[in-house]
Amino acid sequence: METRILTVFAHPDDAEALAGGTLLSMVNQGAKVFLGIVTDGDKGTHDPTEKKEQVVARRHKEQAQAAAMIGAEVLWLGFEDGMVQPTLELRKELVRVIRQVRPQIVFTHDPTVWFRHGTYINHPDHRAVGQAAVEALYPAVKKAGMFPELGAAGFAPHVPEELWLAGTDQPNRWMDIAHVFEQKMALLACHASQFPMEKARVVFRRLAEEAGRPRGLPAAESFRVIQLGARTVDLLASHFTSHEEQQE
Ligand SMILES: [Zn+2]
Repeated sequence: METRILTVFAHPDDAEALAGGTLLSMVNQGAKVFLGIVTDGDKGTHDPTEKKEQVVARRHKEQAQAAAMIGAEVLWLGFEDGMVQPTLELRKELVRVIRQVRPQIVFTHDPTVWFRHGTYINHPDHRAVGQAAVEALYPAVKKAGMFPELGAAGFAPHVPEELWLAGTDQPNRWMDIAHVFEQKMALLACHASQFPMEKARVVFRRLAEEAGRPRGLPAAESFRVIQLGARTVDLLASHFTSHEEQQE
């Protein structure tokens, strides 16, 4: 069966920047990707006189180009850029999208990260979207009694197998992206309004090197992967069983 992947990120370009190489590799193995994008990226301009509609139109166009390179479907949720909060409204919307797409793997931002690389304050939208996605996945997405109006509208409970947190400081999974690094740069080049490509190339090369260092990979993306399942007790049982096997 084809692996279905849903990404839940705050802005157009986040999926490509944080997980572009990994998504390309998974697509090469036959996966189908759905890009859930919570905001329209309407603050993504350096020109204060530019109209919001112009910015949104450009970002939709750039995202469509990048999505075409991944063969992905884009799902716009339409929240305002820079103003996202982990509300029940957003949680419900994410439950709806997860139940609609019915993925095995969900990607989102690591909501616990405030700072990275000693130079970067994590965007509050990233933390908010990550938190709302985690709270949608447990337990709302699998409980028919939560947001019962979704079930009534045909969005039946669904439990993905794995959650992959991107932009994390606590990775436990390293994906080799050396073979798709140029393709990842081409994805980022689609978002021309966001990335001056000469600088971006240097920065993303260094990020890939840094991510790969703990595993001796020349270029990687790293993630904190969380196993999901219908019953927490079963997940914990298999966790402890596999640890005991490793010790034997
Ligand atoms: Zn972002």
